[in-house]
Amino acid sequence: MENYQALREEIVSSAQELTRKGYLMATGGNVSVRASDKSGFAITPSNYDYMKMKPADVCVLDMDLNILAGERKPSVEAGMHCAIYLARPDVNVIVHTHQVYASTLTLIQAPIPALFDEQARFLGRSVEIIPYAPSGTGFLSSTVAKYVRGHNNAFLMQNHGTLVFGTNMERAIHNVEILEKCSLAYLIALCSEKKVTRIPAAIREIALIKLKKDQQRVIKGEPHNSSE
Ligand SMILES: [Zn+2]
Repeated sequence: MENYQALREEIVSSAQELTRKGYLMATGGNVSVRASDKSGFAITPSNYDYMKMKPADVCVLDMDLNILAGERKPSVEAGMHCAIYLARPDVNVIVHTHQVYASTLTLIQAPIPALFDEQARFLGRSVEIIPYAPSGTGFLSSTVAKYVRGHNNAFLMQNHGTLVFGTNMERAIHNVEILEKCSLAYLIALCSEKKVTRIPAAIREIALIKLKKDQQRVIKGEPHNSSE
C-alpha cells in the first residue's frame, strides 16, 4: 500500500474540519479514505476526540480488516466502511455523521426526494433510508452494503445518522454540507404542511447522468473535473 502517512494526515485534517463545522460531534461518527491502490483504507480510531487526534492515532486496515498500522482500536464501523468500498468502486471517501438535521429525518423515516439541482447533481436521485441495525454489527454492514449499491452518495440511517460518499475528500465534505442544507430545508417545508415541490424529473435525470460520468471516470482512474 502507498504512504500511510498521507492517508492518516488526510483523515486528521478532514475529521477536524468536519468537527469545526459541526458535522462531527464529540466522538460520534467516523471518516475513512481508501488507498489509491485499493488495497485498504485509513479510518478514524474508536471513541477518540477528533480535535486531539494525530496521524499516528489513525488506523490503516486492509480489505480483510487486518490492522496494518495504528496503535488505537479502529472505529467499530470499520466493517461497514469496508463493505461499502467493496460494493462501490467509485467511492474513495466515506463520512458517517450524526449531524442533527439529517438525523432528525431518520426519526420520521423521511427519505429526501430531489428538491434542489445541486442535490441531484452531487447526492443522486434521492436520499434513501437504510433500515435500523445495531452499530458495529455484521448485520449493519450487510444491510448497508445492500442499500448503497447504485449511484447515490448520501443515505439516512434509521434512528442513527448519515452515510455520505465522495470520489475524494473535498467532494465528500461538500456532500455532507449539501445533505445538511437539504435536510433542514426539507424539515421546515414538511413542518409548513404545504405541498413540497420537487425539481422536474428531466432535470434530475440530467444531473444524474453527470454524476454517473464522474463515477465512471474515477472507476477508470481518470481525473474528474470538479467544477462541472
Ligand atoms: Zn454512528
